[in-house]
Amino acid sequence: MADVLNYIDGVFVASHSNATIPNINPANGTTIGSVPASDAIDVDLATKAALRALPAWKTTSFEERINWLYAIADALQEQSQTIIALEMEDTGKPVSLARNIDAFRSVANFRFFADHGKQLPEPKFEMDQATNYVHRNPIGVVGLITPWNLPLYLLSWKVAPALLMGNTIVAKPSEMTPQTATFLAKVMDDIGLPKGVFNLVHGLGPQAGQAIIEHPDIRGISFTGGTATGKIVAATAAPMFKKLSLELGGKNATIVLDDAPLEEMMNSIVRASFANSGQICLCGSRIFVDKSRYDEFASSFTWHVEQLKVGNPHDETTNMGSLISVEHRDKVESYINLAVEEGGHILTGGTSAQHPVTNVPEGSAFLRPTVIGGLPAHSRCATEEIFGPVVTLHTFDTETDLLEMVNGTNYGLAGSIWTGDKQRGHQLATKVETGIIWVNTWLHRDLRTPFGGVKNSGVGREGGDWSLNFFSELLNVCVHE
Ligand code: NDP
Repeated sequence: MADVLNYIDGVFVASHSNATIPNINPANGTTIGSVPASDAIDVDLATKAALRALPAWKTTSFEERINWLYAIADALQEQSQTIIALEMEDTGKPVSLARNIDAFRSVANFRFFADHGKQLPEPKFEMDQATNYVHRNPIGVVGLITPWNLPLYLLSWKVAPALLMGNTIVAKPSEMTPQTATFLAKVMDDIGLPKGVFNLVHGLGPQAGQAIIEHPDIRGISFTGGTATGKIVAATAAPMFKKLSLELGGKNATIVLDDAPLEEMMNSIVRASFANSGQICLCGSRIFVDKSRYDEFASSFTWHVEQLKVGNPHDETTNMGSLISVEHRDKVESYINLAVEEGGHILTGGTSAQHPVTNVPEGSAFLRPTVIGGLPAHSRCATEEIFGPVVTLHTFDTETDLLEMVNGTNYGLAGSIWTGDKQRGHQLATKVETGIIWVNTWLHRDLRTPFGGVKNSGVGREGGDWSLNFFSELLNVCVHE
């Protein structure tokens, strides 16, 4: 695939203006192809198609829609090599990650919601002289807006429950990672999903994305992206009383207690910090270590980080590929420079000028994993989301100090605690202001569980019944005996 197209009413089309945006492979700086630069007119065409498809789609049986999800999962699985290749080309991520996380979960999301839908309860409340029946209706046309870090994984996490509950869709992926969303549209087209049920509009956030949020016929918005964008989305959608789900940024804490068996856990802590070059909303970017273990931790962690192999995404042994773009690397590097201004010292890594990745093409967006010590926990680098391979190390004396620092950000998405005593870890976990926290593990996901953040990390939850509740409107019918 090179030039991608919108998918509207079952047809692959250019934007109405024919305007395009280049799509760049960040691992080598070359242009892969073009992306339609769609605007409100394209979004309106897609919404009208979704509205036309809605009456028939919402009256298909639940079983039929479950079977469509299985059919999509099967078709994606058969072509998972294509998903891997396209995701690598768009993002510069390493092949092992594209296979084990992106391609795997994109298929698993459809299969999971198909399985889960089979067990959907139909609540019934009996009372004096009447029975209440709770029905689930679709919202209608829903807008799905997703970021670039886990492109098909995050889109499929929304598409599957939205379809299952009988909604029709207008989706917009990040313009930096358009290929797998287009591939999903192709798969749906190949298996004969009715036209207009899934529509895809590519383009820039402030044009195509904003037009989705503003369209009066799109009644629900599920958005995953940065907190600053989330504020714009909320400000636009709230006065229109749209149903809204916001999965936003984070500044997740990794907590290492004094009894943690460090050598046993170190590889997992490194992975929690640098998977996908730190560009996963769940990555831990602030590590708090009990003062009595800090020196031991800092030297072992730094050593392990230095063993990570950064470079050619096609090499099976590569741990870290490139960042999403040169512009994003510039932003991440500005935080490394700021960290030094704020009094931090670089334990390993640094900017690409200070410590370049060797043997990578000119114009690529690689950056070494960077560990910074000595920063106050309330410094900008330790409280603002960087969303790259940069981790700050801090120490704590008491649990009160620890919680004051850990909870001292505007974010609250995820976190992890590492300890020799899982009961102690569990107790501490309940005091952290966050939506998800792991004890002695990370990214260990059961798709039935609630996923989402508190504070500026979002509003609402995805996963299992939470997704199905979001993508439906409940109707209570009270029948007198
Ligand atoms: P952005 O917020 O920049 O973009 C997310 C999506 O929103 C993109 O498709 C973007 O389009 C679009 N968009 C931008 N402006 C608007 C607008 N005015 N109206 C509607 N849509 C708009 O996030 P990034 O793509 O940079 O992704 C990284 C962020 O996502 C990080 O903050 C990360 O923490 C967060 N994230 C959160 C997750 C969670 O589950 N909580 C999971 C993964 C990431 P365009 O690309 O054209 O700008």
